[in-house]
Amino acid sequence: MSRVLVVEDEAHLAQGLRFNLEAEGYAAEVVGDGEAATDRLLGRKETFDAVVLDIMLPGKDGFSVVSELRAARNYVPVLMLTARGRPEDVLKGFASGADDYLAKPFELSILLARLQGLLRRSQWLRSGQESVSGESQADSSSTEDFGTFSFYGKTIDFGALELRSGENTIHLTLMESELLRHLVRNDGRIVSRKQILEEVWGLHEDTDTRAIDNFVVRLRRYLEDDPANPRHLLTVRGVGYRFTARPEKEQKM
Ligand code: CA
Repeated sequence: MSRVLVVEDEAHLAQGLRFNLEAEGYAAEVVGDGEAATDRLLGRKETFDAVVLDIMLPGKDGFSVVSELRAARNYVPVLMLTARGRPEDVLKGFASGADDYLAKPFELSILLARLQGLLRRSQWLRSGQESVSGESQADSSSTEDFGTFSFYGKTIDFGALELRSGENTIHLTLMESELLRHLVRNDGRIVSRKQILEEVWGLHEDTDTRAIDNFVVRLRRYLEDDPANPRHLLTVRGVGYRFTARPEKEQKM
């Protein structure tokens, strides 16, 4: 049974969520503010499979909660609740390390679908990690192995949600790992923003495409030696993005 922590100060909404999550077969617990959430997750190190996190909370807000989790290397999938899906909140939420968001007011069925999506992805990534570690570790340079992907001294480990570069290890959120995997799978090909919305995020009609651009800016900081002059993760104006593992090979063509 998946354990879900609901962080919401509006008591009727929180209790309604708990009731409905339990009816769907989740074990749900509710806390009413950010301090209590970080206490449960970081202080007491309780394990949850997902967190439904409201932004507007008394005291410590949702952005601070998810930032603290990520800073402490806690990568529990976080579904953030934003007021009316304000683009600035969505962008700030993703920048803080949230994995998905839902605009208030929302339909319960949509919340359940998003939550299931997050849990499925995190389980899938975890099972990918297991199958990779059980297979041939020797072939770590393989570019067709989507458990890990290596290029220019960097290795992306999609299962472990890590990007390793020399001595440095950068931890990725679920959504960062998903987007990277999608770009790497399409190595050398243009990927449109619409395609990213549909295939990586499961078509959120209300998603501002600037959220994707914001993601890409972050990914460049991880991938590129000089993020201002990217060589691997390129913008294709008016269309989307293109990842290329071997830019020097293309220039000769
Ligand atoms: Ca609230």
